[in-house]
Amino acid sequence: MILNVDDHEAGRYAKSRVMKLAGYQVAEAATGRRALELVASLRPDLIMLDVNLPDIGGLEICRLVRADPESSSIPILQISASAITTSDRVDGLDNGADAYLIEPVDSDVLVATVRALLRMRKAEVELAAANKALQAANELLERNNEELQRFSYAASHDLREPLRTIACFTGILEKKYAGQISADADAIIRTITQGVTRMTSLIDDLLIYAQAGQASDEDATNVDLNEVLASTLKNLEQSIKEVGSSVQADPLPIVSGNRVSLSQLFQNLIHNAVKYRVPETPGRIGVTAKKQTGNTVTIAVSDNGLGIASQHLSRIFEPFQRLHGSDVAGYGIGLATCKRIVERHGGKIWAESEGVGQGSTFYFSLPLANF
Ligand code: ADP
Repeated sequence: MILNVDDHEAGRYAKSRVMKLAGYQVAEAATGRRALELVASLRPDLIMLDVNLPDIGGLEICRLVRADPESSSIPILQISASAITTSDRVDGLDNGADAYLIEPVDSDVLVATVRALLRMRKAEVELAAANKALQAANELLERNNEELQRFSYAASHDLREPLRTIACFTGILEKKYAGQISADADAIIRTITQGVTRMTSLIDDLLIYAQAGQASDEDATNVDLNEVLASTLKNLEQSIKEVGSSVQADPLPIVSGNRVSLSQLFQNLIHNAVKYRVPETPGRIGVTAKKQTGNTVTIAVSDNGLGIASQHLSRIFEPFQRLHGSDVAGYGIGLATCKRIVERHGGKIWAESEGVGQGSTFYFSLPLANF
């Protein structure tokens, strides 16, 4: 439906005829006031607007159509007498017209311009609908994610309680009956105790994983990564010493983030670098920082350890993915936790390795602190 607004009957008739022949429905208005009434009642798909009307000026009509949310997206094609100046044309476009033609208008040009404007309008409508659907999907995803976080946190939290009971009673069994029933019974009690210990640390890891996704931007502060690294190395001092590994670190920057989560991140990566070393070879661990454009920094934690085959480089960041045997302690949640932490900080994490036995480097990006 095209609304054809022109106070000159002959011109109006000619344009309506061209548009009808091109297959459009046409409504007509000879004054600005009538045009606004028809915009409100018919909601045309496009307005062909003569700039010089007897009552309301073309620019004012454009402004009014654009100001009303119900009509603001209707394309307006302004058509004016040839006496018009360039600055009038600029005014028309600046005040909300989508295109401008000058009389006499060739009928093919008129139809082609209308078609182009309607195509543009259709694309806009489709884009707006796609955006709306995307936004709704994002909101749903976020809600589901939050629910899942709450669920996994509550589930792992609640699992602790019965486990504590089992641990407590096997402790009593061990104390009261160790060496008194049979060697078999002693072995069974020991196996239960080991199972409970493993289960407890698995639940602890799961809780850390669930919490890693919960930290929000609100608790971001300026965090000096040199301090984070120093306290990580202090925590791991014993295990680093035991295996004779050494750590070389560049001066690190101050980033914006959650101190507890970032400590967890460093702890997991350096602990892995110590854990997955080549036996009988002194472990060499490096920590470096490289400033990137856009106020971010990339930190690299490298080792000369067991390395990772290229086909496994991305899957190790998924929960419970382990590449090495069950004789190495762990549940495969550490790197998944690192991924959550880094992503919560708006960064990315990835690993590179020349291959098995060639060492690995874990990279992650973080936002630098704003001063
Ligand atoms: P975990 O160490 O508890 O098994 P992670 O999620 O920290 O779990 O790591 C997942 C897997 O990725 C590990 O089981 C190991 O096979 C591999 N991996 C992690 N860090 C390294 C590393 N520095 N060198 C070689 N392999 C690694």
